[in-house]
Amino acid sequence: MCGPAVSAPAAGGAIADYRLIVLDGASLKWGEPVDGTRATVTYAVVDRVRRFPDARNCGGLSPLGGLLAANHVDRATFDRELRAAFAAWSAVADIDFVPVSSLSAEILIGAQSEPRGRAFTNVDYDKSVTVAVSNGPAPPHRMRQALICLNPEERWKVGFDGNLDVYDLRYTLQHEIGHAIGLDHPSLHGEMMDFRYIEQFRTPQEGDIRGVVALYGPRTGTAVAAAAPGKTPLPVASSIIELAISPPAE
Ligand SMILES: [Zn+2]
Repeated sequence: MCGPAVSAPAAGGAIADYRLIVLDGASLKWGEPVDGTRATVTYAVVDRVRRFPDARNCGGLSPLGGLLAANHVDRATFDRELRAAFAAWSAVADIDFVPVSSLSAEILIGAQSEPRGRAFTNVDYDKSVTVAVSNGPAPPHRMRQALICLNPEERWKVGFDGNLDVYDLRYTLQHEIGHAIGLDHPSLHGEMMDFRYIEQFRTPQEGDIRGVVALYGPRTGTAVAAAAPGKTPLPVASSIIELAISPPAE
């Protein structure tokens, strides 16, 4: 439906097929605050309403029962799609995801209590550690919690059918998980982390892979082309309120 990827200059003029979330001068990652090191992250779908007064996105998370029923998706199917979305990132980078009870999960997934947009992610990191760097790039912040929220008033589906008004749950979750592990929207289209919802691929693309590998290292046994030195994206401050996925027309 769409033509070939069109490049657009990022802030600062850099063209980049991936971009890391940068808040307060540094990127964010789970696990050790060292680029390219592995992490294990817990996740859960909320089973009751949870409030996060400080969150810019997903300030209220509700159980998904209503959203799933309205779209004729059973819970087992949703859980399978969610596992597949996490697995797609684990397949390419050294990051693992473990389901746990919702009280302790680091990544929480639910329906928006106040519906807007399609889907958003909120990220929070450990602010007790002050990063002091005299030269060179700042080490990443240590991610503390991420919230992923889906709009229960929008229509959702399982699988691609070419109708870009109804979003595939797995694709959307995969995109939002990308935010939840530290990736922002790149300036190039044709990547899973592009803010536009498209139905052209189902797994992370080259730039997505370079980005997640920069944070967590490659999954052992996978060959990943490292970013050429000149192509490493410049750190550009992220807008947390833009960690969303949108219709392609926007
Ligand atoms: Zn997004």
